[in-house]
Amino acid sequence: MPVPKTVQSADGISLFWFRRDLRLDDNHALFQALQSDYPVVAIFIFDRNILDQLEDRDDARVTFIHQELNAIDAELRKFGSSLHTFYGDPIEVHQQLLDQWPIQHLYANRDYEPYAQARDKKVHALYEAKGKRFYGCKDHVVFEKSEVVKGDGKPYTVFTPYMKRWKALLADQPLPYFPSALHQDQWLKQLEGQVIPLEAMHFTPSTLEFPARDVKTDVLHHYAEQRDIPSVNGTSRLSMHLRFGTVSIRKVAQLGLAHSEKWLNELIWRDFYQMILFHFPHSVERAFKPAYDQIEWERNEVHFAAWCNGQTGYPLVDAGMRELNATGFMHNRVRMVTASFLTKHLLIDWRWGERYFARKLLDFDLASNVGGWQWAASSGCDAAPYFRVFNPQLQFEKFDPFKRYVKKWVPEYGSTRYPSPIVDHKWARERVLQRYEKALKP
Ligand code: FAD
Repeated sequence: MPVPKTVQSADGISLFWFRRDLRLDDNHALFQALQSDYPVVAIFIFDRNILDQLEDRDDARVTFIHQELNAIDAELRKFGSSLHTFYGDPIEVHQQLLDQWPIQHLYANRDYEPYAQARDKKVHALYEAKGKRFYGCKDHVVFEKSEVVKGDGKPYTVFTPYMKRWKALLADQPLPYFPSALHQDQWLKQLEGQVIPLEAMHFTPSTLEFPARDVKTDVLHHYAEQRDIPSVNGTSRLSMHLRFGTVSIRKVAQLGLAHSEKWLNELIWRDFYQMILFHFPHSVERAFKPAYDQIEWERNEVHFAAWCNGQTGYPLVDAGMRELNATGFMHNRVRMVTASFLTKHLLIDWRWGERYFARKLLDFDLASNVGGWQWAASSGCDAAPYFRVFNPQLQFEKFDPFKRYVKKWVPEYGSTRYPSPIVDHKWARERVLQRYEKALKP
């Protein structure tokens, strides 16, 4: 993708790079860029290293990003500026930009995934070699890296003490707010950017609906009682917006502080998994607890396909998978049940399930997805012990007692068209206990 002509009228510019922070307000690195001595140019890079791996040309996440970038561009045009987007390898794009634009500083918010860390290291070296600075800011989480650690300086691997320390730290330092709108004059005006059309990148728009980004305080007030009932709109549905930074985690955490401690705790799980991914990047590919890599998994493609398609004969599992396939969302309780069923009842490698969720979830986030899957497989940090195997039928009776959720997603449930269970619960339970025991015995 060619870079627009040299910026002639400015002595220098500060470049702001949007990544998982697709908003103008309360955006930390953008705020810092706007405080700098140079006018700001904002960019986004459609990264081919990521896009080329997506299996679906109508991937809804790409449509969402595109839609949000158009909205940002429209806002910037009100200040006489615009958004510049590129399609390619980020290192090459930055190399070209450094050659053609008088960039003095680069600003971006930090990303803790292994790929992003490696990419940013290379970008950092590129800027350093030219005598320029790359400023990274904390924005995606409330506390990052080693801000919440044990007394000995080591990262927590158990959630509850981490959560307590997190809350104690927050009590000492109120959440900051970064008002970007105050600095409208700081944008560079004379260079016109554009948002590359989806089609130019060989994508087509998705027809999936995206969740709203406002949270009803009523939901938060009833969260503790309703969060486990999948037939009720009892959770915030903010996960996609938190993933792409279309809402600010600091503003969201303020809501938690004001309205629901239980909900705030879930936001802390999100910080926790980002911290775990940062300190233990091996957990993306391997079990957090190494002994669990010895488990001998079944490679049963037929069972895996039945699980993916919601045809296992276990109603809550099937309803969840069908909700996921139809909407790109699945309720948290049902994520736990479907993930447990795949790893424990079908004895299929958690990585198969993790990849499938990664393909389908609108809110797919590597840290939380790997964390959730390893929790379900009992191989993760602070996971359920392996001998605790969810009974999918009891989970159904407990969390969908009026069968509303199941009837919505599995309309043939109760008829002869609904399949019989693909594995017997008692048999599957015995099998997984024996298999885990064999792998874990000293
Ligand atoms: P709410 O209940 O309203 O919670 C508010 C926010 O807290 C969420 O938006 C999310 O950002 C965070 N949160 C809630 N629960 C968790 C949790 N257990 N772990 C980490 N953060 C949490 N969440 C993702 O955002 N992306 C994923 O890819 C993802 N994969 C998962 C896979 C499995 C197997 C499991 C068990 C859970 C996974 N989760 C994931 C966590 C959780 O299911 C979703 O965050 C939640 O269902 C999103 O709905 P909500 O926004 O209405 O959540």
